[in-house]
Amino acid sequence: MPLLRQLEFISVGQALRLPPPDPATEAVAVPSRGLDVEATAREILRSLGATKLASELRVEWNARLKTCAGRADYRSKLISLNPQLVHNPSEIDRTLLHELAHILAQFRAGRRRILPHGTEWRQACCDLGIADEKCCHNLPFRVSERARRYLYKCPHCQRDFPRVRRIKRAVACLTCCCVHNGGEFDARFRLRLVR
Ligand SMILES: [Zn+2]
Ligand SMILES: [Zn+2]
Repeated sequence: MPLLRQLEFISVGQALRLPPPDPATEAVAVPSRGLDVEATAREILRSLGATKLASELRVEWNARLKTCAGRADYRSKLISLNPQLVHNPSEIDRTLLHELAHILAQFRAGRRRILPHGTEWRQACCDLGIADEKCCHNLPFRVSERARRYLYKCPHCQRDFPRVRRIKRAVACLTCCCVHNGGEFDARFRLRLVR
């Protein structure tokens, strides 16, 4: 699909022009890059016959997105991309197409409510050339919190204990054991896996 190749080229070019990841300068540099991505997204929509949607669509870089790679708001026809994606240019294309699929799916469905990653979205992904796309909006890199995918909780004080690995032994909340059991292990405060 020639459009995709072009998109990739554009985003690589943008990445090369980027300043070092300093939040202050990033805020200035981002809007000029946004225009190219927007033009590309509009061109793709036009190629799929969604001309009206193409003219309304906007794409912005939004530094307030944290672990989320992108976001699509159909009501305002706005796609937001995480500026951190410029560290990994191929992810710009993928994220843009993923979010574009959300917009396109809802556009085609009209007023009918659809599931965010349901059959309509899946169909749009196929049309956009990303048939194997996953339902994940998170950044695929460099977010250390993401590595800690096991979340444990103390059933007593409700404190969170994010962990990289599954806890194999019996582990209890130290604070609660200290406060209520003289610092000795107490099964009442044993951490529970919640995610
Ligand atoms: Zn999605
Ligand atoms: Zn506790």
